[in-house]
Amino acid sequence: MAEVLAARLAVQEEQIKDLTLEITSLRDSLGQGFYADGQDFASPELETLRTENEKLKYRLVHLRRGVQAELKLVQRVCEQIPVRACDQYKPTKNQEQCHKPASNKKERKTDDSNKIKKKQENAASGVKELKPWPEYIKDRLSLYDELKKESDALLAQRAVKNTPISIELPDGQKIAGKAWVTTPYQLASEISQGLADNAVISRVNGELWDLDRPLEQDCSLEILRFDNEDAQAVYWHSSAHILGEAMERFYGGCLCYGPPIENGFYYDMHLDGQKGVSSTEFGDLETLCKSVMKEKQPFERLEVSKETLLKMFKYNKFKARILNEKVTTPTTTVYRCGPLIDLCRGPHVRHTGKIKALKIYKNSSTYWEGRSDMETLQRIYGISFPDSKMLKEWERFQEEAKNRDHRKIGKDQELFFFHDLSPGSCFFMPRGAYIYNTLIEFIRSEYWRRGFEEVASPNIYNSKLWETSGHWQHYSDNMFSFPVEDEVFALKPMNCPGHCLMFGHRPRSWRELPLRLADFGVLHRNELSGTLTGLTRVRRFQQDDAHIFCTMDQIEAEMKECLDFLRCVYAVFGFSFQLNLSTRPEKYLGDISVWNQAEKQLESSLNDFGEPWKLNPGDGAFYGPKIDIKIKDAIGRYHQCATIQLDFQLPIRFNLTFVGKDGDDKARPVIIHRAILGSVERMIAILTENYAGKWPLWLSPCQVMLVPVNPSLEDYAKKLCKQFTDAGFNAEADLDSSCLLNKKIRNAQLAQYNFILVVGEKEMMTNSVNVRTRDNKVHGEMSVDDVLNRLIFLKQSRCQSAEEEF
Ligand SMILES: [Zn+2]
Ligand SMILES: [Zn+2]
Repeated sequence: MAEVLAARLAVQEEQIKDLTLEITSLRDSLGQGFYADGQDFASPELETLRTENEKLKYRLVHLRRGVQAELKLVQRVCEQIPVRACDQYKPTKNQEQCHKPASNKKERKTDDSNKIKKKQENAASGVKELKPWPEYIKDRLSLYDELKKESDALLAQRAVKNTPISIELPDGQKIAGKAWVTTPYQLASEISQGLADNAVISRVNGELWDLDRPLEQDCSLEILRFDNEDAQAVYWHSSAHILGEAMERFYGGCLCYGPPIENGFYYDMHLDGQKGVSSTEFGDLETLCKSVMKEKQPFERLEVSKETLLKMFKYNKFKARILNEKVTTPTTTVYRCGPLIDLCRGPHVRHTGKIKALKIYKNSSTYWEGRSDMETLQRIYGISFPDSKMLKEWERFQEEAKNRDHRKIGKDQELFFFHDLSPGSCFFMPRGAYIYNTLIEFIRSEYWRRGFEEVASPNIYNSKLWETSGHWQHYSDNMFSFPVEDEVFALKPMNCPGHCLMFGHRPRSWRELPLRLADFGVLHRNELSGTLTGLTRVRRFQQDDAHIFCTMDQIEAEMKECLDFLRCVYAVFGFSFQLNLSTRPEKYLGDISVWNQAEKQLESSLNDFGEPWKLNPGDGAFYGPKIDIKIKDAIGRYHQCATIQLDFQLPIRFNLTFVGKDGDDKARPVIIHRAILGSVERMIAILTENYAGKWPLWLSPCQVMLVPVNPSLEDYAKKLCKQFTDAGFNAEADLDSSCLLNKKIRNAQLAQYNFILVVGEKEMMTNSVNVRTRDNKVHGEMSVDDVLNRLIFLKQSRCQSAEEEF
């Protein structure tokens, strides 16, 4: 005892010394005897200053972290943006000059600009746009016309040679063509007009190629339609040009990047001054886009020297930046459609008429290349399809997804909420907590059958643990850490290191393996507040986490068990799933023979499992190969929840050993990290949206509603309600006598009570109930005991559609 006290006193003495030093230096820096009373430390003012100082330091740390994360995000975004994005230059003329009559440059007017003027006059009748168009459009066009003439002449020269070439189709068939003459579109038309009409783009020798671009040599040729993913990207990228053209004609600003994205495309524009984009302008922009589509403007490709392009885009500093920073070749290409000439690698669809349906659905403001120290840009999002039915379908899907949004349903059904005072940490209310706990109980019951042992481990650890595990070096930015006495502690972001301590706390024998430690421990990760979204991205969560410590030879059998486990769980939810095996990456740690042996076992366990799987070569973590599992929800979206990850490194870092069969007391176990729900929070989001709030009976926070037909039956209803509650059901009785029977039934249905039990005089006499479901299926009168037994069975068997199967 005395020793402990002495040690603590010594520590405190040290701290006092440090504090005194700090305060002295603070006072010295103030340059005067501020604390004349001799109270050198613990003065309230100084304490306040120190506290404020500490707070500022923390804020600084967080700000830095925020900036870093944002930069990372930006980097990621930028890496995804192809350089082909199309750019115009910022007008050196301001908005006022844009409205100046264009007549002072008449002498440079070409045929094309005459046509353009005519078009502009035509358009003037119905479509809202700048009149006249920004001056740079005309300047750009006249330079383009000159260059195009030269290029056409060169092409004609080459074509004259009539060099025969051979083109190989995907089925192996070979057709003859002429170099610099034959185009993919011509060949497609020869095969069938339908193929040519539906073609979006071609692939020549593996490279995407404009349909009207002449072939240059012997090659392979593939014609791609909209159902091909690459073709879709080309289609949406081409649509971005249409939007870009409309934006130039409507706003007159400088186009920046216009890439395809997962859901359509966007185009960024820099507008002078404080001008922004308003969603009220979408209609006008769409009308303008539609007029462009109607004109069937061909996409013309032109290869130009970088030098000339800098001249062409001199009005747009953003395109100039792309040219200077991203284009490393002496020449690059521009594409023209109508009055728009855009710096772009292409390829594109043949003409703007290929876009049949287009919708502008969102706008936002952003920064040049996502960097907050750069110019503010306006981003407009659109989507397009070769068929208006497909657009309708897409709109329906968006609407459906919106209605299913777990944040909306969570609020409507009073499942959970978030509060500003603890961002990213969810408050589960009783109904939400019921779902939460039921999910955990489900997994727990499976653990029992499958030889997992549940443990409980600490939430906070000395940072030394994280240094050993490697998290401190790589992950500390995402951890909540704080000083405790003289050390730094942190909230755990994962359970594995704790489980390693559990494995290592006493000698282990091969007889104990595989050791499967399961833990529902609370985890915290410091996600940026700006990235937190509902239950899908949170700071506080629990996982159905387990770590399997096993020998190399046991990997295959354990994998089979893991796969069987997840199939069982996902079948209960009604999810189908996809499996991917990710193997050794280029940068890996450990012994290559260990990797090979493990990968072989993973492969053979997947083959035995009998479900299709795909290989992702080189996609494993540096510390071991893994199996990724994606589930498909009710509206066809994929989510990754489960992971099965092998780890050869953590056992080394923690120096975990066991005594092998052969007496070797330094045998090294392998760790398998695995989770099936993944984060329980995120799984609840996915399930909410998957079921659209219609919870299956076993998970439902509203299972049984008793409805008395009149107030005289309330006691009977109350008695039954207790009976169902005692049997473990979420049961309630609607005793609101001001409400009519039909209204009560309707209310219960809207609240998604799985079963509604109506009781009248007759039911009371015979101890029965009248059963109907939330979908208004009437099962009729049944004895209370029968209903109870049936519901208990349906609940225990975790039936997906108890209302139907009742
Ligand atoms: Zn383009
Ligand atoms: Zn783990």
